[in-house]
Order: sequence, then structure tokens, then C-alpha cells
Amino acid sequence: MSTVLGLRCRECGRDFPAEALHVCDFCFGPLEVAYDYDEIAKVISRESIEAGPRSMWRYHDLLPVSESSPVDLGAGYTPLVRAERLGAELGIKELWIKDDTANPTGSFKDRVVSVALTKARQLGFKVAACASTGNLANSVAAHAARAGMASVVLIPSDLEAAKIMMTSVYGGKVIAVDGTYDDVNRLCAELTSERPSWAFVNVNVRSYYAEGSKTLAFEIAEQLGWQAPDHVVVPIASGSQLTKVEKGFAELGKVGILNEIPSVRVSGAQASGCSPVATAFSNKVDAIAPVRPNTIAKSLAIGNPADGWYALDVIRRTGGACGSVTDAEIIEGIKLLARTEGIFAETAGGVTIATLAKLAAEGVIRPDERTVAIVSGHGLKTVEALTGHVGPSHTIPATLDAFDLALGLDDPVRP
Ligand SMILES: *Cc1c(COP(=O)(O)O)cnc(C)c1O
Ligand SMILES: [Zn+2]
Repeated sequence: MSTVLGLRCRECGRDFPAEALHVCDFCFGPLEVAYDYDEIAKVISRESIEAGPRSMWRYHDLLPVSESSPVDLGAGYTPLVRAERLGAELGIKELWIKDDTANPTGSFKDRVVSVALTKARQLGFKVAACASTGNLANSVAAHAARAGMASVVLIPSDLEAAKIMMTSVYGGKVIAVDGTYDDVNRLCAELTSERPSWAFVNVNVRSYYAEGSKTLAFEIAEQLGWQAPDHVVVPIASGSQLTKVEKGFAELGKVGILNEIPSVRVSGAQASGCSPVATAFSNKVDAIAPVRPNTIAKSLAIGNPADGWYALDVIRRTGGACGSVTDAEIIEGIKLLARTEGIFAETAGGVTIATLAKLAAEGVIRPDERTVAIVSGHGLKTVEALTGHVGPSHTIPATLDAFDLALGLDDPVRP
């Protein structure tokens, strides 16, 4: 028996069947997957999860598709790293990094795409499509190849070279559009009605896609020994990941994996060059005013975030905060994480770490809070951002003298 009840409107609560639908035709509210938590509680246990695969599919009971044959490249079950040195620098006693750079295509998007394409294939779709700020493009192209589906991916033409390359190599169609992500997304929304036989990962199967982000919360709790953290810091593009991380922790309480619904403070991280949610938070208003993005954090550059209001609501309800950081701070954040913990993040990770540092310095994150920062993408995807900021210490001819001269008084191992 399926534990998925169907889709439910987040605004008016009307129910819909579990098909390729994403907006309520009554009030235009977004649809979300609804589950029968009492039925799930009967089948799920810590033991059943621990016996599952070492991927996000170990939590299949809390995902909206049956697990028998997921479209799977091995997303999830990424390391949760205790960050002693970074914690010491920031004055946080117990800091952890959820290292989602370790996913198959190098970003957290593999979690959401694995769910979306599994559902799309079940519904009979043969073509996977999306509008993307880059990482979604990589992941859709790769998972479509894995699933034997065709893919059509739309991206802004000014994306980082690695993201364009990593999308094109999988053999799907890659359409670069002259415009911002918001322009690309508008085109994609128009295409959705033109091409009803295509599964648009971020449009008509978005309700399923979004559920994949819950596995971040499930893994964090499991990796902390079935405990929730006190505070998580989450990057915001559309805001979906942030809302689903909160939903994930709550679900673990609802189905009895955790003894009660935990109270986890959820804070958001944005780039100052695209900070519609952080701006609404600091101005204490409900309306998210769209912006035109201008930031090196291209994966987070959504000026009109679909789930922005819901993210703001989660941040406020849980007692979190939403901060924003400049491009210079993003680069410092990337270098700080690499230097202290040996993890190389893309610009979105720099946003998370720099915001973490800022919130800790402001006392929003308290020194005694068990804190988790989500580092959502790999640094090799955005090396351009570091051009001129890091490089060889010296360039020398191949002689011992030149070597000694170059290291000089800086020699780290001179006795
Ligand atoms: C897409 C993305 C996010 C957040 O996405 P949401 O749209 O807010 O769910 C965060 N980090 C990276 C690297 C991403 O690609
Ligand atoms: Zn509705």
C-alpha cells in the first residue's frame, strides 16, 4: 500500500492525485506531497534505515516514489565532518560541515533530481527538462543518461565553463539562453504548457523534486547518532532546500525515528548580490521583492525565488536568521573552509561559510549550539571565482638554489 496520499495545496489544503501537477487550479498555490505518517511509522525504524543502501535511498519510506528501481547515481549519504579548526576560528564549540560536494555530479542537486526522474519515469515521461543556474543542469543531464531518457537543459549563457562542460558531456541538448536565470525560468514555464510530454524537473515535477532535499536532514540526524542539531545554516536559491530541511527534521519526529519533533533553528545564507530573502528578513516584511542578480554565486542567483516566502516563514518560525555576504566575503569563505578543513566548496559554499561566520560573530549562532552548515557544491565547478585570489606561491627554475631562495624565511619545515 502506498504511503503517499497525493499532492496537497500549501495554501488552501485541497488534495490532488500524485501526478505531474504543481499548482493548485483553485488558488494557484504550490502543491506538496502529502504522506500517511501513521502508516510510515508502522514500517520505518532506525534499524530498517541502517540496513538500507549507503545512499539517500535508505530513506525511501519518506520519499514520494517506490524504491524498487530508482534513477540512482549514488546521491546522498555524504560525509558529516566535525569541523574543529573552523569551529575554533568562529567560536562555535560543536560545528559540523555537511559535505555535499561529495555527490556524484558534485552538488546537492543530485538528491532532488534522483527523486524527480524516478517519479518522471514512473509517470511514463521519456524526456527530462529543466531551467538551471548550473548544478541542476549537470545533475539532470547525468541522471537522464543513467535513466535512458533524453534531456533538454536550459541555462543562462554566462555560466561557469565547468558547469556548461559537465552538462554537455552527457549527450543531452544544452540550450544557452542570453538572459538571467529568471528569464530562462520564464521560458521554461512557457515550454511546460507547449510540451506536456516532457518532465520539467523544476516545474511540473517540482513537488517530487523538492522532497529529495529532506534527505539532508535525515542524514544529519542519523550521522549525529539519531539526534537533531540545534542550528543549521542553509544556502538559499529558490528557497526549496531550506524549507525541506526543516520538513525533514519534523518528519523524523512524526514517524517516531526521533522521540519528538525537534526544535532546530534554521538560518538562511544568500549573496548580497542576490539577497531577496535576507532583505525581507532584515526589513521585517513579508513580501519578497524580486532583484536582478549580480554575484559570483551563480548557483544561488535566483532573483525571484519560488519558495522565498516559505523559506522566510521557516526562518522566522524556528528562530533562525537570514544573512547575506559580499563577493569578497564569499571568496574568503571558500578559502577559510579549504584552509581549516580541507574541503573545497563552490561559491555557494563560500556563501554558507561566510554567512555562518557572520552569524556567529553577531551572536545569532550561540557558541554552545550544535551547529551544522550545509556545503552544497564542489569548488572545481567555479574555479573562475578564485582567479587572481589563489595560485602558486612562487614560480622558479628547476634548481635547489632557486627553491631555497623562494621559500626563504617562509619555509614551513625549516628547523
Ligand atoms: C540549487 C542550489 C542550492 C539551493 O537551491 P534551492 O533552490 O534554494 O533549493 C544550494 N546550493 C547549490 C550549490 C545549488 O546548486
Ligand atoms: Zn489551493
